[in-house]
Amino acid sequence: MKSECEICGSASLRRLGERIYKMPLRDGGHFEFIQTDTICESCGFLFNTTPPPDDKLKYYYERNRHCAGDYDYENRLRMVKRMCGTIKYSVPAVKDIGSDSDFQDLLRDRGYRSDAERFDIITLYYVLEHISGIRDFAKGIIAELKPTGHLIVEVPDFARCPIESLYPEHLCHFTPFHLRIFCESLGLELIETEVAHSRNFGFCSAFRLKTNPVNMEEIYTTFEDNYGH
Ligand SMILES: [Zn+2]
Repeated sequence: MKSECEICGSASLRRLGERIYKMPLRDGGHFEFIQTDTICESCGFLFNTTPPPDDKLKYYYERNRHCAGDYDYENRLRMVKRMCGTIKYSVPAVKDIGSDSDFQDLLRDRGYRSDAERFDIITLYYVLEHISGIRDFAKGIIAELKPTGHLIVEVPDFARCPIESLYPEHLCHFTPFHLRIFCESLGLELIETEVAHSRNFGFCSAFRLKTNPVNMEEIYTTFEDNYGH
């Protein structure tokens, strides 16, 4: 059971209620999602304090009936292209995490590289709301970014479309405000939040890693000069 807010770390949580769903599996069985809706009294983030363990979630997603996506891939490509405008590399390395492979295939068709150890851009489309430990998950992804890397995140907008955000599989419910303070706490800064999202109930925010404003070489030189080494 989670006892702290995943966004701001506050332990001041209020349980609002419980929703229980039986989701059908391809083999004819079902999987029970228990959503213990809990709100952080400090920042207002709504999330499930009793998410299924990761192995159970893996079991479910390997067997659930996957619906065809209603995604607007052109809007996704526009956002990726715009972020590439701030990158100096001729062929940016872009990785899409967690959603279907169609978008990664499309990125490759449009000339983006995906065979890199670290990436200029990582995209997360409708993934974060399915994850139970969003902080560790996001840290792992950010570690795959180049020092100048960008992260593009699109999730359901709980503020604008609460019904869609409260879909049985979703373990946390984002607003642009909550996604921003979450990403800022992980060393990212917001570039923009886009209204041209790839699904009509979502929002898409682009972030980049904050650069260290301190020039370490300059500091070493200054100290060397002053100490006369
Ligand atoms: Zn909070």
